Amino acid sequence: MTTAHAQIARNRPEWHVPVDQAIIITIDGPAGTGKSTVARRLAQRLGLDFLDTGAMYRAATAICIDHKIDPDDIDALVKVVESADLHFDWAADPPTMLAWLKPIDERIRDHDVNDLVSRIAAISRIREHMVRKQRIIAAQHPRLVAEGRDQGSVVFPDAEVKFYLDATPEIRAMRRADQLRAHGRSVDEALILRNIKQRDSMDAQRSDGPLICPDDAVVMDSSHLQIPEVISAMETIVRERVDSLRSQ
Ligand code: C5P
Repeated sequence: MTTAHAQIARNRPEWHVPVDQAIIITIDGPAGTGKSTVARRLAQRLGLDFLDTGAMYRAATAICIDHKIDPDDIDALVKVVESADLHFDWAADPPTMLAWLKPIDERIRDHDVNDLVSRIAAISRIREHMVRKQRIIAAQHPRLVAEGRDQGSVVFPDAEVKFYLDATPEIRAMRRADQLRAHGRSVDEALILRNIKQRDSMDAQRSDGPLICPDDAVVMDSSHLQIPEVISAMETIVRERVDSLRSQ
């Protein structure tokens, strides 16, 4: 199905979602499936805004580490995260994550943030804070591709199109390693694989907003598909959905 959809989309001229069409597209799935890249490029291709919700949890984690807050001291953590006024600079492409008005995109990709982020993301009060912010963002940017773990299942249950992007842990580790190398970071692939499996299990087991595949999501496995093929397949599905919304 996916390859056929990709084929159809490849043969089409460029297409944007009509400017008067509000639409939320969610892309959920585990770490390292290429979600962020896919979401960003899909948004560009369809003329929509792009929301990287992982960046928000990463920002909270970087703040926790840099302010030397004990992750078990939830009151202190929530207080300082709230005071950071986390938001995106939408003038940048992709939008830049700001804390206290300072860009923190580099910092939130560091190893120590990777290692702690799932623990911070499991804190219900942090999730409530982020979910609230994400819904405000969607109200301000009603034509949005939102990417994360809980976007279709919790944050935007009424999203017009939901995708769940998956891939084997080994392929995901390999992609993450390539990404880090491209940023000039040192890489231990075995460690990355362990970290991915650990994060998967924490993300799936937490009580609040666990990583699940929503019933009404289109599942795509990117293990053996190139990113452009995934995007093309998604584009075709979005286009069909928009056509049907506009003919109602
Ligand atoms: O997608 P990314 O790897 O940047 O996400 C970092 C972490 O943030 C994930 O491993 C997950 O623990 C958490 N996260 C989440 N809910 C989201 C997005 C990310 O719990 N919507």
